Amino acid sequence: MKFFDMLKVLPKSLWVTTCNSGSCNGCDIEIVATISPRYDIERFGMKLVGTPRHADVLIVTGPVTKFMHSKLLRIYNQMPDPKVVVVVGNCGCSGDVFYKSYSLDGPVDNIIPVDVYVHGCPPRPEAIIEGVAKAVLKLEALDKAGEPQGEDVGDSVLERVAL
Ligand code: SF4
Repeated sequence: MKFFDMLKVLPKSLWVTTCNSGSCNGCDIEIVATISPRYDIERFGMKLVGTPRHADVLIVTGPVTKFMHSKLLRIYNQMPDPKVVVVVGNCGCSGDVFYKSYSLDGPVDNIIPVDVYVHGCPPRPEAIIEGVAKAVLKLEALDKAGEPQGEDVGDSVLERVAL
């Protein structure tokens, strides 16, 4: 589906929050670019919000350092259902060159469920916006299902990571 077709299916304004789980800041700068005058995603109703308690979408950058593991879980668990997770950048998607580093618990899908992967180092702002637009489809499906997304992610994942 083309980017502008995706925007047509926006059921409501998307409120987005971000978590830097240990990125070099490259991906985060590209996310900031999406709200700059050139891309201005707020005109499509996508708004960056400062608290996970108000957000529908969580954008995660970075490969998830051991220090950030519990913080990422806490942010995810604070978000109301339905919610979707978009990972931005190769580090968060796969660990990239940091894969299996002694200081990492990531990539992100080792810790929390991921709905959309946006690859690149860093990805272009257009790719990030497209990733968030794809999240709309997932949100719509979750809305229609009307089912809770289950218990907080936590101990079981921590056990899996420790293996
Ligand atoms: S994917 Fe590239 S730009 Fe993004 S956090 Fe990793 S090294 Fe930095």
